[in-house]
Amino acid sequence: MSNKTRIAYMYDPDIGCYDYEPGHCMKPFRIRMTHDLVMSYGLYRNMEVYRAKPATDLEMTQFHTDEYIEFLKRVTPDTIGNCQQEALKYDISGDCPVFDGLFEFCSISAGGSMEGAARLNRGRCDIAVNWAGGLHHAKKGQAGGFCYVNDIVLAILELLRVYQRVLYIDIDIHHGDGVEEAFYTTDRVMTCSFHKFGEFYPGTGHLSDIGIGSGKKYAVNVPLRDGIDDDAYRRIFESVITDVMTCYNPEAIVLQCGADSLSGDRLGSFNLSMEGHANCVKFVKKFGRPTMLLGGGGYSIRNVARTWAFETAHAVGDSVSKVLPFSDYYEYYCPEYLLDVPRSNMSNDNTPEYLEKIRSTISERLRSLPFAPSVQMQDVPRESLGGAEEDEDMLADLDTDKNMDVRMTELQQDRHVENDNEFYDSDVEDEKNEHVATEPNNEEVSDEEMADAAEPEEDDKAETNGASTDEAPVHRSSIVRPSETSAVVLEDNGQPSGSTGPLPGTGNTATPPRSPQSDHPAPESNDAESAHSDNIQQASPPAEVN
Ligand SMILES: [Zn+2]
Repeated sequence: MSNKTRIAYMYDPDIGCYDYEPGHCMKPFRIRMTHDLVMSYGLYRNMEVYRAKPATDLEMTQFHTDEYIEFLKRVTPDTIGNCQQEALKYDISGDCPVFDGLFEFCSISAGGSMEGAARLNRGRCDIAVNWAGGLHHAKKGQAGGFCYVNDIVLAILELLRVYQRVLYIDIDIHHGDGVEEAFYTTDRVMTCSFHKFGEFYPGTGHLSDIGIGSGKKYAVNVPLRDGIDDDAYRRIFESVITDVMTCYNPEAIVLQCGADSLSGDRLGSFNLSMEGHANCVKFVKKFGRPTMLLGGGGYSIRNVARTWAFETAHAVGDSVSKVLPFSDYYEYYCPEYLLDVPRSNMSNDNTPEYLEKIRSTISERLRSLPFAPSVQMQDVPRESLGGAEEDEDMLADLDTDKNMDVRMTELQQDRHVENDNEFYDSDVEDEKNEHVATEPNNEEVSDEEMADAAEPEEDDKAETNGASTDEAPVHRSSIVRPSETSAVVLEDNGQPSGSTGPLPGTGNTATPPRSPQSDHPAPESNDAESAHSDNIQQASPPAEVN
């Protein structure tokens, strides 16, 4: 038995086809660029690549309201003119425009994260990766910050079917407001966001915002200033996460790897190198908990692709060459053609004293938590969720018995899909060394003095300034806390009671967990658009609602 980390990597080749609108900062194409690098580096050899079933509207309403999802499904650029009132209500305008295929885009993003969570639940992988996910600003009935459907909340709800305590870590430069709000009143999810604070979208994430009710002290906010560099970030990240792991002891971790915290980002103003950003992945992986890696922001797309490819390599445990292999989008990496995002010479506005104050405040708060939070500990019905493995073994036995004379049955062939795609190697190898690297290109980013985040603490704070500059200046409303809007209400005895029972506390619509059968990948994707997508296993549709 190998103790190599088992990776389930979610990728749908359609994701790169969507375009928010011309000139929009958010470019889903960066996911395709990332995948291109991942494949060109041959990382697929040490992980399982899946094309997840897109999330259905019913699945999305495990968190979002029926009306909001129905609107997302219905609205098109042609019909938006006739439903301005609704668009206003759901904040679908400006930075969150209606574009062709909006709902399908959301379905792919959310489907990947939910499928990743379902695989972690069943113990089918150690780390699930979905770079198309991580859209942390979406609220229960409202879009925001380029996000429409909150794949992260949906994935965490899936994880809560099996795991008692889930830790959410967010290293996007923007505060992970949608996820924090959803779980603000529960101790079953601890949210921990490292973000720029002060005159910056979404305006939330003050050090003193710590959760309410039984969620009090289970929201952790690390407000940072411009120009934070690798060393400073590493120190505070490792210190806070070590305390969180000690005091909360989560059973699963979701790490949102928003890449707008990188140096040179089009919207961001931190100064992290690729290595500094990836150190978070490396550090979290060391704890050996079931972990999900998600994308998020990131607006200098070649740097996003570099970083997420590098982080995929970290997850897999492969070392990769600094010299980029030849790939479909090779010319994007000119002139240096290196796997590197260097930091700039911008100044770091986070003084050691400021960071120490944040660190010690958070540490003190975490240490006052009761060990093993007061979550309900009754049996979790793993059978209806994770019974897939036994079912599969039984199916395999029956299959073998029935096909004694057949060398490889259909079922066995299905299970060997990922091993039959080695042709891609040679294609890459042929072209690999034809290009020579040049010096990296430093990009400098302008920055701005930000407000002091370390104000006196005030528990159960209901409002913060919603001042915003970058991502979604349109929406600057004051923050309404989850008791009034998005919070997922986790019931005291809110364990799922089987595949037909309610999800833990969502209170919206009962839907079954992701199907155990989706562990049987179909042989090939039918609509392969490139050599890359030939390597994708198609996760089959879930079981019918029963
Ligand atoms: Zn962001």
